[in-house]
Amino acid sequence: MSIDQVRPYRKIDRRKSKKIYIGNVVIGGDSIISVQSMTNTATTDIQGTIRQVNECYEAGVDLMRISVPDQDSTAALTKIVPNCPVPIIADIHFHYRRAIEAAKAGVKCLRINPGNIGSNEKVKEVVKAAKDYGCAIRIGVNAGSLETDLLEKYKTPCPDALVESASRHIKILEDNDFFEFKISVKASDVFLAVASYQELAKKYDYPLHIGITEAGSLGIGVVRSAVGLGNLLWQGIGDTMRVSLSANPVEEVKTAYQILKTLGIRSRGVDIVSCPSCARQAFDVVKTVEEVEKRVSYIKESLSVSILGCVVNGLGEAAHTQIGITGGGAGRHNVYLDGKPNHKVTSEELVDHIVKLIEEKALRKNDK
Ligand code: SF4
Repeated sequence: MSIDQVRPYRKIDRRKSKKIYIGNVVIGGDSIISVQSMTNTATTDIQGTIRQVNECYEAGVDLMRISVPDQDSTAALTKIVPNCPVPIIADIHFHYRRAIEAAKAGVKCLRINPGNIGSNEKVKEVVKAAKDYGCAIRIGVNAGSLETDLLEKYKTPCPDALVESASRHIKILEDNDFFEFKISVKASDVFLAVASYQELAKKYDYPLHIGITEAGSLGIGVVRSAVGLGNLLWQGIGDTMRVSLSANPVEEVKTAYQILKTLGIRSRGVDIVSCPSCARQAFDVVKTVEEVEKRVSYIKESLSVSILGCVVNGLGEAAHTQIGITGGGAGRHNVYLDGKPNHKVTSEELVDHIVKLIEEKALRKNDK
């Protein structure tokens, strides 16, 4: 019996979208929802930028975006791109020559709004470069930089304004016989972002890059992204995602996976369910979870673990996880493997024992 039959309420009906390719990463259709991030090094710091891309790759990133504000940056791309393990997207504002240089440097997607490039001749040159060098394009509308006439028409950034802006850019690419693009309509306000993506999803079947822009720090930004992106993904909207945090980009990747894992869309690493603890706890739950999480953060294989301070809810959680711990009497705690009671462990050995069980299971998965 499939998980959909056992738990039909977990089903997400994904919006049907066209497929495009960013290098070897498929966006849209029935492809996995890819995770993106963006470097925040100076692009001219070639080694630093490559290092950051690799750190995000280790965390599971599928695509990385790099800003190219000037010619020195596009020159640096020629050395960065061949040394990156994932396709690179060049982030360009306004200057069409940077787009052409980036395409020549080997990036696989250009984030550029065709309506901001200038004359139709310049648009044609960018589209030609994208076709010649196998680049996709992302149209990126942002509530913070809407066209002046749209702000005058709508008075304030609103879903209609964001979608109208996107439609203009879409038409320019379609008129130039270019269809390998995805679209984003980002805002830091979750209501505005969600409503804009909903409208866009009704109007087009191009793949959507979803994001809550300028979401904030590792604290509030994570929550804002989870609410906004979680809402969209739950509705089946979104083909690729970026969490935008004022933090190390690795944290953006980790947060994206947490959102995807919560919705059962993708899995990666150890997923720990734990209780908040209370007077019934038979061991220090908070400290145990903190230590275990830190020590197993390097593991990429997906594993489910439950750590609960007593049997009140512990048994139910242990029944659905691969490794389950529930606090027991006299400093001896119950260990469940694949939902079944297996053995006991003392408080002193608890953290080392959980880590050992996780590592052994991850190793076995790796060997398969
Ligand atoms: S599982 Fe037990 S220790 Fe944890 S919060 Fe519930 S009652 Fe308290």
